[in-house]
Formats: sequence, structure tokens, C-alpha cells
Amino acid sequence: MTTSTASEPETAPADKNFLPGPVLLLGAPGVGKGTQAKALMAEYGIPQISTGDILRANISSGTALGKVAKTLVDQGTLVSDDLVNQMVADRLRQPDTHHGFILDGFPRTLNQATWLDEQLSAAPGTLPVVAISIVVDYEQLLHRITGRRISPAGRIYNVYSNPPKVAGICDVDGSSLVQRPDDSEAVFTERMKTFEGQTAPVVEHYRKQGRFEEIDGDHAVEQVTAEIKSALKRLRQGSGQ
Ligand code: AMP
Repeated sequence: MTTSTASEPETAPADKNFLPGPVLLLGAPGVGKGTQAKALMAEYGIPQISTGDILRANISSGTALGKVAKTLVDQGTLVSDDLVNQMVADRLRQPDTHHGFILDGFPRTLNQATWLDEQLSAAPGTLPVVAISIVVDYEQLLHRITGRRISPAGRIYNVYSNPPKVAGICDVDGSSLVQRPDDSEAVFTERMKTFEGQTAPVVEHYRKQGRFEEIDGDHAVEQVTAEIKSALKRLRQGSGQ
């Protein structure tokens, strides 16, 4: 199974006085979880764990997990809790997660959330998770998803709001940009149904637990990052942890 992705941190934390510990980034497809996770990873030097990225890496390298996941990912429905939990368990055993991590796209069901809560409470010395829910309205999400183009190295563009200088080509390394198969409007509609039915209850689960803040994601990337960083400080200071 492929458990790591190309996006692991190589640099030391920029803000050495503050480490946010385990962080969950919650929100519908297209709210900017991946973009914000990468910004937080650069800031704090803790890894982004994106279950979607790990599944896509398994699909492109043709592992057994990738073969099971491909149809589900392509049609915008969820991979089974057991498979995804196992994938996250494997990733959390890697030593770069020991000072904290940013989970992006997990948990997506109440079963996954309960499993994660149990895992973390059983791990001695682990801070409780803090959850950030990013919110953006439906029309904006549709625009973001259908306009999204990605370079093989994972740089994210948008044909409407952040186009490359030359259409279809990455500004940084000249590679060809691609559209994820699940970023079509039809699959987006399915992913939103999945979000409303199965993941919205996860957001409520963490809202009720406390150590939770909701962030308006309809601003410039840097502003949203700044608001998440402030929220993380408040949440850790508020809980005394
Ligand atoms: P993402 O990149 O987070 O939008 O995820 C892409 C797709 O991967 C989703 O539409 C699901 O098919 C699958 N996936 C990602 N994370 C999970 C998860 N936590 N549980 C089940 N399926 C997932």
C-alpha cells in the first residue's frame, strides 16, 4: 500500500513557539482544505495527511487498495471505513506525525470519527484534536471544483480565479495540468450529497465536542490561512493544551 504522498514537509517549523498538535480540517469538496493544509504544513512543519491524496497515489500505482478504491473515488462515493481507517492508522505510525499532523478529508463518516477519537485517546501524550470547519457556499464550490486544474507535483490552479500564465501549463515547472476525474459537475453533485448525508454529522460531532471553530473560506487564501492560525492558537490556549 502507498501511504505517503509527495507533500511531506522538508523544512523546520517557521513558528517555533507554537505547534498546533493534531488538527482536523473539515469541509465540503472545494472549500480549500488541501490548499490550507499545505500552508499550515509549511508554517508548522507538521505533515498533511490527505486521505484523498493517499487513495489517488494508490490508484496511480495500481495497488490492491487502489484497485478497490478507483471506481468509488471516480464516482464521488466513499471508500469503506475499514480501508480508510487502516490507511490512516498506517500513516499515523510514521514518526513525522508525532508532533502533530493536519488531517485533510478524514474523518468523513461518524464511524471514522469515533475510530479516530479512540485511537488518539489511546495514544499516551497526544493532545486532543482541534477541528476547523471551512465553509463556502454551493455556487462558489461548484466554480472552484469544475475550474480546478492540478500539476503532477500537486500545484493547484483554477481556470476562473487563479489561471496559469499559459492555459493548461504549470507556471513553475512547465508540466501539463490535469483535471481530476471527480471534478466534473456530475461527480461534484454526488460528492456534495455524500458530504451532506455522511460528513455534515461529523462536523456536528466535533462542534459539540468543543475545540472547534468555523472559518469563512470565501476570502483570499492568505487571509483564510491567517484566520485558521489565529483559531488554532485560541483553541489550544482556550483548552489549556
Ligand atoms: P478528496 O481528495 O478529499 O476530495 O477525496 C477524493 C475521494 O477519495 C472522495 O470523494 C472519496 O471517494 C475518497 N475519500 C477520501 N477521503 C475519504 C474518507 N475519509 N473516507 C472515504 N472515502 C474517502
